[in-house]
Amino acid sequence: MDEPIDTRPKLLIVDDQPVNIRLLNELFHADYQILMATNGPQAIRLCVDYLPDLVLLDIMMPTMDGYEVLARLRADELTRKIPVIFVTAQSDEADEERGLDLGAVDFISKPIKPAIVRARVRSHLLLKTQSDMLRHIALMDGLTGIPNRRRFEESAPAEWRRCARDMTALSIAIIDVDFFKNYNDCYGHQMGDECLKQVAHTLASLVRRPYDLVARYGGEEFICLLPNTEEQGAVALSHRLLDGVRALGIDHIDSDVDRIVTVSVGVATAYPSRGGDLQWLIASADRQLYKAKLSGRAKVMTVSAAPGIETSR
Ligand code: GH3
Ligand code: MG
Ligand code: MG
Repeated sequence: MDEPIDTRPKLLIVDDQPVNIRLLNELFHADYQILMATNGPQAIRLCVDYLPDLVLLDIMMPTMDGYEVLARLRADELTRKIPVIFVTAQSDEADEERGLDLGAVDFISKPIKPAIVRARVRSHLLLKTQSDMLRHIALMDGLTGIPNRRRFEESAPAEWRRCARDMTALSIAIIDVDFFKNYNDCYGHQMGDECLKQVAHTLASLVRRPYDLVARYGGEEFICLLPNTEEQGAVALSHRLLDGVRALGIDHIDSDVDRIVTVSVGVATAYPSRGGDLQWLIASADRQLYKAKLSGRAKVMTVSAAPGIETSR
């Protein structure tokens, strides 16, 4: 049987003295998942790999001190938001100021007082949970519940860079509902909203690889970000999206394409390691969508990184 997933908050304890780690571990292991590190580089690695919810960080450590660890965590997009509490024997005001300037959320002095450490950890974890929740809401589309345009715009540049580094292809597909204005006019705005929800859920259920993303890009327009995906794969997926929406069988008597709701898809593929940029890739996909609309709708049009090759499949 599978192990049950541990959903308790993750707490990383960093101290070069094992005895201090043991002490904090005793205090917290019943309530949190505990990660431990005895030096700076190890702490940073654990942060990247496990994204802890809170770090208790010793300042005085050989080779890399706590300030440096914090500065490095803040410099990396992935780890910059992880809250860090300094736990230190130094109680110098200037040190404390330096730590807070670097972005530590709190300061706890050694020898630690268990009740105080517990209370502070609890309140910082609560803040973290609340800010995670707000962030989640801010990146979600209110109507359909799938990621919104902002989420796409946050993820896309990072995926572009990752594909450049890995020398793999990045594809984008833009999906637009055909004759949706007519749908609203014919069935009413509320039915229109219902239709968009169904289309969104269908797209989201078909785009399933871990780094793939499907977001609501505008009114009745959706966008897929497909890292490590060649043109052929992106076109195949686009056809599954097209067929998936058709399979919903949502009546649309006022569509010029069919009697049911259909979508058109524009696809573009780039190799970020060979140049170009994200805006160009998105614009290319958009142009393909426009062509799909012009040439009859309910179809996929695509362009690859090599200029001049455009196909309808
Ligand atoms: P085409 O096939 O060329 O895409 O035609 P279209 O009618 O789908 O395109 P157009 O851009 O003319 O119309 C889009 C419509 O989508 C108009 C707008 O009222 C509707 N729409 C946009 N957002 C929403 C929404 O959140 N809910 C509903 N019900 N309708 C929306
Ligand atoms: Mg449309
Ligand atoms: Mg549109």
